[in-house]
Amino acid sequence: MNTVSRPSAAELPPEMHSALDWSAYSQVGLGDAYAGIPKSGGDFARAVALCMGNRACQRKERGVMCPSFRVTDDPEHSTHARILALKAALNGELGDDPFNDPRLVQALDLCVSCKGCKRECPNGVDMSALKIEAQAQRNARHGVPLRERLIATLPRLLHGLPGLGMALRLRNRMPWMRSLGERLFGIAAARELPQPAAHAFSDALAVSEVQDGREVVLLLDTWTRYFEPEVAEDALVVLRAAGYRVIVAQAGEADHDPARPLCCGRTWLAAGMTAQAQAEAARLLTALMPHVEAGRPIIGLEPSCLLSLKDEYRQLGLDKVQVERLAKQAQLIEDFLAAEHAAKRLKLELRAMPDAHVLVHGHCHQKAFGGMKAVRKLLGLVPQLRVELVEASCCGMAGSFGYEAEHHEISMRMAEDALLPAVRAAPEAMVLADGYSCRQQIKAGAGREARHVVSLLREALAAPQAASESAPPTTESLSTS
Ligand code: SF4
Ligand code: SF4
Repeated sequence: MNTVSRPSAAELPPEMHSALDWSAYSQVGLGDAYAGIPKSGGDFARAVALCMGNRACQRKERGVMCPSFRVTDDPEHSTHARILALKAALNGELGDDPFNDPRLVQALDLCVSCKGCKRECPNGVDMSALKIEAQAQRNARHGVPLRERLIATLPRLLHGLPGLGMALRLRNRMPWMRSLGERLFGIAAARELPQPAAHAFSDALAVSEVQDGREVVLLLDTWTRYFEPEVAEDALVVLRAAGYRVIVAQAGEADHDPARPLCCGRTWLAAGMTAQAQAEAARLLTALMPHVEAGRPIIGLEPSCLLSLKDEYRQLGLDKVQVERLAKQAQLIEDFLAAEHAAKRLKLELRAMPDAHVLVHGHCHQKAFGGMKAVRKLLGLVPQLRVELVEASCCGMAGSFGYEAEHHEISMRMAEDALLPAVRAAPEAMVLADGYSCRQQIKAGAGREARHVVSLLREALAAPQAASESAPPTTESLSTS
C-alpha cells in the first residue's frame, strides 16, 4: 500500500458520512501542506493523518502497543500499516467500496482495540475508534455479519432470554454443538463459553442500609451483573464498609423499558453498530444525569465499559455538556477509592495479609487511561500484602476477539507473549484482573481463577461483612441447570 500512486480527483470515493463525531480533530494539520491528510473523509481523515510514520508501533520493548505486531513480528499488523490502509481507502486507492476491500479488512483484522496506540503512539493515534468507524462504514453498505450482531445484542439477550444460560451450558457440554456453533456462527469450538451465574445480581441488594455517609452510584456492567454478580456484591460490601451510601444505577421510571438493566453500549460499538450504541448511551446518560447533577461519583467495575463513558461517548453525538460532566464523575472503583484516600476521606479498615502475594494484570483500557497507579496505591493500603504488576500487553481475549474461530489461535499467542508465563511462574499468587475477558483468558490459558481487585479488598476488610444482612431473594434468575 506504500507504493500506490496518488489518485486523480475523479477516482476519489464520494464524501463519506461519518458514523462517529470526529470534530475534535478538525484542527489537525491546519495550514500544513505536508500534513498528509487524505483527500476524502473530512475530520475522520484528519484523525487518520495524525500518524507521522515514526513506527514506534513496530517496537516492543515496553508497554501495550501493538499486540498484533508483538506476536506476528509483521509490520503489516501494526498501527502504522492500518493507517496506511485507511489512507489508501480515503485517497481512492481501494476502489469505490474501500471499507470492504480485503486490503483494508485484513489490515484491521488483528487490531484488538486495546487503545495502546492512543496512549503510547507519540501522536495519540486512536485506532480503536478508527476501526469502529471503518466497521460502521462497511456495515452501512453490507449489513452486520450474524456473529457480530449476536454478540452485540448479548446484553439484551441476557435480560430477555431466561433460557440462554441453559443453552450456553449445553453448548459447552456437547462437542457437536461446539462444532455447529463454529460452522454457523464462527465461534471457536475450542473455547469454553462463559456461562451466566445461576442468579444475576439482585437489585434487592441495591437498597443501601447505610443511612448517612457520602452518596455514590455503582454502575453495573452486563458482565458483572449476569456472569459474576459476586464481584458486584464485593464492591457493595467494600463501599459500605468505607461508609458510603451506595445507590445502584437503574433506568428511570420514564424509560420505555425500566426493568431492563442499563448498558454502556460497548458491544454495539465493537461491532460498528454506532446507532444502537448511541441509543444505549443516551439511555444511560438520561438515567445518570440526576446523579451527576447531585454531585455523586459514578463508580464502575469493568474497565472497558466504564471507560467508554469517558472516551467513545464523546464521539456519539450526545449532549456534549452532559457527556463532559459524566466523564468527570465516572471512575473505576480503584480510581475513586485511591482519590478518596489521597483526600484523606477514605475510612477503610484493612487487616494485614503477610502471607499473600498478588499478581495484577491490568486491562488494556485501564492502562491506556493510566489507571494502574491507582490500583497499586490501593493495594498498597493492605498491610504486608506483596503486590506484583504483570508487565504484559493485551491478554488477547479483547472482548469477543478470542472467541472468534479465526482469531482463537492468535488470541492465545497474545496471552502467551507475557501474561500466561508470568501467571505460571507464580503458582502461589492470587491473580487479580479487573477485566472480565482477561479473567476468562487467564482461566483458559493457565487454569487459574483470577479475581477483581475489589474482591481482594473485601477479603482484606478488618471486619468481614455481608452484602446485606437480610438480603431478599434475587430478582432476576437465569436457568443454567
Ligand atoms: S501510528 Fe503512531 S507510533 Fe505508529 S507510525 Fe504512526 S505515529 Fe508512529
Ligand atoms: S488499538 Fe491496540 S491492537 Fe489496535 S492498532 Fe492500536 S495498539 Fe494495535
